[in-house]
Amino acid sequence: MGRITDYYHAVSLEDAFAKAKQLGSAAAYVGGGVELVLRRNPEVTTLIDLSRCGLDYVAAVGEGIEIGSQTTLTTISHSADIGHYAGGSLAWWAGHIAHNNLRDMITVGGAIGRNQPWNDVVPHLVALGAQVRLFDDAERIMPLAAYIEAKQSGVIIKNVLLPTDNAGSRGFLWRFTRTQQDISTLHFSALVRFEGNIITAANLVFAGRPGHAALYPRLSEVLIGKPLSHETFARLAEVAYDLVEVGTDFRATGEYRRELVRAAVVYLEEHMTGVAQ
Ligand SMILES: Cc1cc2nc3c(=O)[nH]c(=O)nc-3n(C[C@H](O)[C@H](O)[C@H](O)COP(=O)(O)OP(=O)(O)OC[C@H]3O[C@@H](n4cnc5c(N)ncnc54)[C@H](O)[C@@H]3O)c2cc1C
Repeated sequence: MGRITDYYHAVSLEDAFAKAKQLGSAAAYVGGGVELVLRRNPEVTTLIDLSRCGLDYVAAVGEGIEIGSQTTLTTISHSADIGHYAGGSLAWWAGHIAHNNLRDMITVGGAIGRNQPWNDVVPHLVALGAQVRLFDDAERIMPLAAYIEAKQSGVIIKNVLLPTDNAGSRGFLWRFTRTQQDISTLHFSALVRFEGNIITAANLVFAGRPGHAALYPRLSEVLIGKPLSHETFARLAEVAYDLVEVGTDFRATGEYRRELVRAAVVYLEEHMTGVAQ
């Protein structure tokens, strides 16, 4: 890992971006610093601290809930607004993944900026239909799902927007780990909306496959228009078993992960129907 020779306290987004532009690949923004301490590009010699840029906030706005990129998992877990959003799945999990000392440091911007394949925050935000607001001398907003496909270096993640449209849907997250503090061998997040007993919308995301977070619109099609019934989820499990791309790494074989895909859908069914399988 390269040696850090300069730690720059940016005072605004404009200031941070100008510094990053000047230094190129020799600079990196600091979120909580958790990942930067463990692993970073050896070219990096300057860290740009964003803690004085006013990015640590959770705010209810007209279009939904904005989470500033410097907001930690602990703050997210304590937010009443996020606790009421989509059944509170994001708030609950933000208070349970990793270790409590780490949750005090890990920021939502850092989680997205690094986006490890096994990360839990990013796939859950994708399932919730989150948008990401970026700054590179101008502001723009795009779906998080699109951003992680085509990440651009040097761009500052300003905040994440949880859209109002999804506030009444039900969020779900299941992660297979050996201990609570372990990272996911398979991660499954979902957002399901239903009217009466009929499913009207669904986002389904698998991560830690061991590949990165991926949305599966074909799995959504299996659910939409169908009743919240055992038959619906049994069909989803069958299709997901064949469709979700899983592979082997040092943590688990592809065959093992394929069985976990099926188990993940059983947990989704229990969560959505309230009936234990
Ligand atoms: C032991 C351990 C266990 C963990 N377990 C889990 C787990 O089970 N589930 C889980 O989801 N996470 C887990 N994590 C957290 C995860 O691994 C990352 O550490 C975390 O996501 C990084 O957050 P950070 O704020 O510290 O980022 P940093 O280390 O500060 O930054 C990470 C990257 O993002 C960039 N970045 C930071 N902020 C911005 C910004 N605003 N705009 C643009 N780029 C930015 C940085 O330049 C860097 O490249 C764990 C971490 C550790 C150390």
